[in-house]
Amino acid sequence: MKIIAIGRNYTDHAKEMDNPLPEVPICFLKPDSSLIKNNKPFFLPDFSSEIHHEVEIVVKIDRLGKNIKKNFTNRYYSEIGIGIDFTARDLQRHCKKEGLPWEIAKAFDGSAPLGKFVNKDNFADINDIPFRLEINGTIVQTGNTGQMIFPIDELISYVSRFFTLKTGDLLFTGTPAGVGQVHRNDHLQAFIQDELLLDFYVK
Ligand code: ZN
Repeated sequence: MKIIAIGRNYTDHAKEMDNPLPEVPICFLKPDSSLIKNNKPFFLPDFSSEIHHEVEIVVKIDRLGKNIKKNFTNRYYSEIGIGIDFTARDLQRHCKKEGLPWEIAKAFDGSAPLGKFVNKDNFADINDIPFRLEINGTIVQTGNTGQMIFPIDELISYVSRFFTLKTGDLLFTGTPAGVGQVHRNDHLQAFIQDELLLDFYVK
């Protein structure tokens, strides 16, 4: 399986990073070794001193597809979940400055903790789903899928032009504002609406 992730998909986050708004989705990949499942802890890596949390809605692909038309994207997933796109911000800053690829800053081991999934039929409108991240009981990021610059159907259609989507692939859909550094012993809890779907510690 592969993870396709989207950068700068929320205006407020693009602004907090001093990035221009994208005209097409910005995509990058994470390997399966970046996944953390079952609320296992995330271990701070030794190559970065600035790991940032980015909470994101995750779409689980459950059907093979390429060049999917926007109107048909809803046939290619039945569940959504929530995950963290951990980012080594210090390394990413260096990569951006030098015009280098982002992988060492975005796709390292454990950079994609993944929570439980819920059926998308539980939601009246896929483009109006609130979600949030709490650290040590304090809300640090809140978002709503309605704030995406490129909504889920557009993302699936766009990425499937470049990457054949396979059953089990994951799409991380970008983070809203409020990203920040995590520290040892932080307790991260991510919610869709008020359902706790991801709950783990930083070690
Ligand atoms: Zn992200």
